[in-house]
Amino acid sequence: MKYFTIFGNPVSHSKSPLMHNYAFKKIGFEGCYSRYHLIDSDQVVEKFRRLGLRGANVTVPHKEAAFKYADEVRGIAREIGAVNTLIKEGNKVIGYNTDAPGFMESISTFDYESVLIIGAGGTAKALSLMMPHAVILNRSEGRLAYFKEKARECYTWGSFIPKSYDLIINTTSAGLSDESLPLDREILETVFKEAKYAVDVIYKETPFLKKAKESGLIIKDGSAMLVYQGILAFETFVGQEIDRKEVADCMFEALGF
Ligand code: NDP
Repeated sequence: MKYFTIFGNPVSHSKSPLMHNYAFKKIGFEGCYSRYHLIDSDQVVEKFRRLGLRGANVTVPHKEAAFKYADEVRGIAREIGAVNTLIKEGNKVIGYNTDAPGFMESISTFDYESVLIIGAGGTAKALSLMMPHAVILNRSEGRLAYFKEKARECYTWGSFIPKSYDLIINTTSAGLSDESLPLDREILETVFKEAKYAVDVIYKETPFLKKAKESGLIIKDGSAMLVYQGILAFETFVGQEIDRKEVADCMFEALGF
């Protein structure tokens, strides 16, 4: 039996164990995936070793620490500076980031050019690497420094002059456990007028998505991103080629879709 977990704080809401355990069973892989409520980010890789894990996912707020303490970081995670997947290779703990490619996969059927990303945290950084032309809009100034350094077009609510965007993405946690919108209502209504798609990384219908639906946009919540980042992690966990469509169907089923 090979052991896996998700490190997070909080972590009790995580649906990753459900998705991965169901998919392990489906392909006949002897794996067991649990949740681990980790408080101290600095312990993330040490705990991984001590628990004798083969692989793990890492969620809020430990992704930067996983990046810092992994023995080696591969792929896009090196640019993002955050790791959401750990895997044991010999004596080494290797870090990857599957969030950003998972998100891109989740919107692969959309036809868009211009993009507005609301929020400037870890998820926004990752998405902006995949979509360098996207405009970043954040509530406050502080987190925009990273984007300015990378010469990205970015604004606070105060400095923003709305234009037309095909795709609007909420990467903030507004609406996760409250009824708030991620952006000033008036600005949001203005950008929705011209948009085609609204996507939220939170996996439920948030006030942001409800409003987008009322405005006639095509909406998508974060469950597809969750599944696609999960498939990419799953591939590294099992270390063999998988039928992605079969695993995706299985993970969506586990989530109740
Ligand atoms: P961070 O803490 O790194 O960033 C938070 C950002 O949200 C900041 O820009 C902050 O603005 C903004 N923000 C927070 N609350 C509000 C609010 N009420 N109104 C407006 N702006 C707000 O978060 P992450 O990027 O790590 O995660 C964000 C969300 O993405 C979480 O809900 C997480 O669960 C989700 N997520 C989902 C995934 C999936 O698979 N579906 C994968 C990864 C993340 P300011 O700078 O002004 O404070």
